[in-house]
Order: sequence, then C-alpha cells, then structure tokens
Amino acid sequence: MTALPELRIDRELCAGHGRCFDVAPALFAEDAEGYGQVVAPAPDADALGDARLAVRACPEQAVRLSGVGGAGRAHPPEEI
Ligand code: SF4
Repeated sequence: MTALPELRIDRELCAGHGRCFDVAPALFAEDAEGYGQVVAPAPDADALGDARLAVRACPEQAVRLSGVGGAGRAHPPEEI
C-alpha cells in the first residue's frame, strides 16, 4: 500500500524567505507573520512537480514532502 503524499513545513526551520509560496503559490501561502504555510497538504499528482520544486527552493530545508517514494526531503537546497 502506497502512502499518500504529505506536504508540510517544519516551523522550527522556516525563516520566512518566501520561496515556497513564490515557486508554488497553489500549495503554499504567507502567514500573518511572514512565514510559509501549507495550503494544500495532500498535493495531487499534477502538483507534485511544484511540491518538489518548493522542497528544492527552500534554503532552510524546511519543506518536507513524504509518501511519494524515496527520501522525504530528498534534495539539498539549490539556487533556482
Ligand atoms: S521557503 Fe522555506 S524558509 Fe522560506 S517561507 Fe518557505 S518554508 Fe519557510
């Protein structure tokens, strides 16, 4: 049985850079304090590419994507 994709932000690591909601505005938004928040915690297949892009875009490695096979956060931060 395959786990459903789960997208979340580790609030202990998030520093409010905003790259997650810049690269994937359908999945993330800015909260009242300027930090990222997940608005689509169970991305469908069409949104997984954007979810992975946000994982790579976060300089704090705070965006976590699990349940899609392989490592949850998978990628080191990259400049985009
Ligand atoms: S890109 Fe990372 S550090 Fe910046 S708001 Fe999003 S989760 Fe937080």
